[in-house]
Amino acid sequence: MQDYLKVGYITLENLDFPENDIIEKHFVAVTECVQEIPCNPCVTSCPVKAIEMKGINGVPKINFEKCVGCGNCVAVCPGLAMFLVNIRNGKGRVSLPYEMLPLPETGNEVFLLNRVGERIGKGKVIRVFVPDEKFYSAVVTVEFDDVNLVKYVRNIEVIK
Ligand code: SF4
Ligand code: SF4
Repeated sequence: MQDYLKVGYITLENLDFPENDIIEKHFVAVTECVQEIPCNPCVTSCPVKAIEMKGINGVPKINFEKCVGCGNCVAVCPGLAMFLVNIRNGKGRVSLPYEMLPLPETGNEVFLLNRVGERIGKGKVIRVFVPDEKFYSAVVTVEFDDVNLVKYVRNIEVIK
């Protein structure tokens, strides 16, 4: 397994990812939080207790069967380490935390970026959740044709 501390980014082999039959039903959270740090707002924000953590320094583990895809953990995570994934009507969808301004708008065409910041395709913004004081980040949902990209799209760049 690649050492993410040496290369500076994580890859799919460092992560748990739900099977397609789960993410074809509804949005499901995936976590990319792999370091043992004293942090747990994802756990306390979850309305169905779908995130387990062994002590405050543990790493979050998501029960994919329990998760209802509400997105609270995405908006509240200060490390921008939570995402939602979904496959619907033959299209892939990812909801990701977004802290840049201006925020994208629904309907914007975007480049899809992977964990290294490389462009791996194009998609469209289908929802922008603007947070209130309970949350840290806006949550932007993008949709795209290649469903396999749900495993790789972790940021976006609005096409101007
Ligand atoms: S998306 Fe909602 S239900 Fe799923 S793990 Fe996050 S907070 Fe819990
Ligand atoms: S809130 Fe974010 S950074 Fe903190 S433990 Fe949860 S996933 Fe990790």
